[in-house]
Amino acid sequence: MSEKVFPLLFVFLLMSCSSVTERTEYVYWKGDGIGVEVTVHSPMDTLQYVYASENGGQNDQMTWFQDFSSSDGRVTVDSLTRRITIVPENGIARFSYVVRCTLPEGYGSPGGCLMDVFRPDIDDKMLFSRTENIFAVPEDDADMKVVVKWSRVPPYPVFCLYNPGQGTGSFEGTVGDISWSVIAGDPLLTVDTVMVRGKVNYLATALRKNVDLNKRQLKDYYRTFYGAVSSFWGEEGSEPYTMLFFPFRNNTWEATGNGFTNGFFSRYDATADTVLNKMRRDLFTHEIGHKWLNNGPVWFPEGFNEMQTAYQLVASGIESPEYFATYFNIALSGLWHSPYRNVPDEEAEEKFWEDGDYIWLLYWRGFSYAFHLAGVYEKETGKPNAWKPMMDAVRPFLDDFTADKFLDAMSVLMEKERLEKDYKKYILEGRDFDFQAEDLPSGCRIVYQPDGTPQLEVTDAALFKKHFQ
Ligand SMILES: [Zn+2]
Repeated sequence: MSEKVFPLLFVFLLMSCSSVTERTEYVYWKGDGIGVEVTVHSPMDTLQYVYASENGGQNDQMTWFQDFSSSDGRVTVDSLTRRITIVPENGIARFSYVVRCTLPEGYGSPGGCLMDVFRPDIDDKMLFSRTENIFAVPEDDADMKVVVKWSRVPPYPVFCLYNPGQGTGSFEGTVGDISWSVIAGDPLLTVDTVMVRGKVNYLATALRKNVDLNKRQLKDYYRTFYGAVSSFWGEEGSEPYTMLFFPFRNNTWEATGNGFTNGFFSRYDATADTVLNKMRRDLFTHEIGHKWLNNGPVWFPEGFNEMQTAYQLVASGIESPEYFATYFNIALSGLWHSPYRNVPDEEAEEKFWEDGDYIWLLYWRGFSYAFHLAGVYEKETGKPNAWKPMMDAVRPFLDDFTADKFLDAMSVLMEKERLEKDYKKYILEGRDFDFQAEDLPSGCRIVYQPDGTPQLEVTDAALFKKHFQ
């Protein structure tokens, strides 16, 4: 090493020593739970971690957080806020806990499928958990370095969405990688590589029935649909994506799912002969859409994602343009009959998890709003393919989506005054959509059923088809 280089290198090392915060998670299967040993290396005086989330409307998360103990440093847990305060000693703190939970005794009501998705369910026959229920993570440091190692593994294959294709192999990444993800294990779990447009992706399944048929259908859908949607977004060079299909343990609900940026999981009725029926296909399509639309007030990542679902099913060639109307009419009818149809956005966002009617409200309202804007765009520009320019306009801030940024971006495509008026009326105030004939996309109309339910009808198939090009 030359003398010239040395001082520079020294400064670099010094800087990295003072700024690096490191933590290691040692994870071990305990038979009836997952044990987590956390070692925090940090120059900070105090660190705040958080365990689990309020997703799913759960409020008993700390009942899963068991056998807590700490060694180096001082670590205290506030059960009420789910916050863990860590005071390292000589730059180090260690603590451990066991995540232990199965579903309540006798539980199996189909309406309660959300519960299956948001709770850990771990024993010697199956493992399913969202990672926020496994890993306590720093509150405001998604970039902190993380190492996850399994010191004892279950007697069945495990798939970790944060470490796709590597099973329980050790993982190095950031807090952001492990805080929103999922872990699933099952004796029948298999991981297949699926090539989509020359890129490696994963299909992880634990199929109970018709394995060959189901895998074939899922792979066909994967190649066709994921190929089309990722090329719409221009993401051919992105990281591997995973589709994880995992049966419910004891629930006959058709399916529910969750989308992340590097994959989605769906839990579904284990007694089903074919996984890929129409209803599930549409759900999977929605979950894949969350790879791109996953942030911001609920009307956007859920409502606009519903628009994207209906749009992409047609644009990918899987469905006919009429299917868009079929899909949209479910939302129109749902919105019209919702007891909360006209509650303001703020209240709807706040009560999102309170009951099913609140949850769906924002899907349907956001979808209707997206459809309305597509019509306004066509009216003002004369171009029928609204969805592509709308999504190109929001793409730069998808990771940090806000309504203000959205309105700014849309105002390049359509008149700002009208845009702001409509946003206030339809989203903020939750008033009924007018669906004025002159504002609608071409080739369709809205008709009203005797009880007032609006319904979309395709009046000119050739014109309507142009929206998907
Ligand atoms: Zn969703």
